[in-house]
Amino acid sequence: MTKSTLPFERVLITGGAGFIGSHLVDALLAQGCKVEVIDDLSTGSVHNLDSAIANPNFKLTVASVLDSQPLAIATDRADVIFHMAAAVGVRLIVENPVRTIETNIGGTENVLAEARKKNKPVLVASTSEVYGKRSEVPFREDDDLILGASRRPRWAYACSKLMDEFLALAHHRQNGLPATIVRLFNTVGPRQTGRYGMVIPRFVSQALANQPISVYGDGSQTRTFCHVADAVRGLVGLVASGSAAGQVFNLGGEREVSIRDLAQLIIARTGSSSQLEFIPFEKAYDEDFEDMQRRVPDLTKINRAIGYQPLKKLEDVIDDVVGYTRGV
Ligand code: UDP
Repeated sequence: MTKSTLPFERVLITGGAGFIGSHLVDALLAQGCKVEVIDDLSTGSVHNLDSAIANPNFKLTVASVLDSQPLAIATDRADVIFHMAAAVGVRLIVENPVRTIETNIGGTENVLAEARKKNKPVLVASTSEVYGKRSEVPFREDDDLILGASRRPRWAYACSKLMDEFLALAHHRQNGLPATIVRLFNTVGPRQTGRYGMVIPRFVSQALANQPISVYGDGSQTRTFCHVADAVRGLVGLVASGSAAGQVFNLGGEREVSIRDLAQLIIARTGSSSQLEFIPFEKAYDEDFEDMQRRVPDLTKINRAIGYQPLKKLEDVIDDVVGYTRGV
């Protein structure tokens, strides 16, 4: 008899000490699951697991997904796997391109190989980065992808995550592995760090300190932000549905906002005296850097599959990050 309120009980989460992974841990523990995390704590933090660690249904294994042995043991113990471990953040990707490619490709190769041995359902977290420079929004899962030159390291991130998608789909096609791919769009919330580039925690910290807000480029580029609570609901819903295998889903928010308007909104909501400071991309990153102009998900597919729609507004996202940043 399972105590879980979901159709599975034992869950393995790679990258579970990370921002999204740790919220997934909390949500699954709250639903009565037994949760094991594999994380090498390279970008994740054990503090993200502060409440989980007190729970007897939780286990943390500090290891890399590049190491097959702990992965094999943990996979044996699990009913389903959420593969969230990946190189994260534009800054890290630009500064450490080798690690980005090796972690994303080698790690996913191992996770899928272990899942395949035991035929365990696996959700592979991918990214909206794979849509690349497409300018027609919203992005649909079957759209063509437009990537830039290999000279620019940012595209290695998109390509490495795309290889993850190809490999997961190949395992599904060839071996019948129940693998599902989710493309996450700019997920934001408490515990996200601005250290690796993420714009909302960075702007919030700058606004609270009344320092200049570092808008890259002219700030006309847009993003569609998603509260981590909505993202977690979507991830769990897809795996629980049992009918998402072999498919790719977008998962994100609804409101497209320019980075300039985002900066103004954060200033307004924090009552900050900060001013906008426009920084050219080549100064923010390097001369090989390329940004995307627009990014908006089409959520029709995930809505049809599990009735997903985001519940949190952009203002909720900002207020939650402000509350968290004030408390840190
Ligand atoms: N950005 C910015 N200032 C910052 C950090 C990011 O203007 O301090 C911009 C960045 O150029 C991009 C957007 O905010 O256009 C979102 O950046 P982030 O790194 O959060 O995510 P991305 O969508 O680029 O992966």
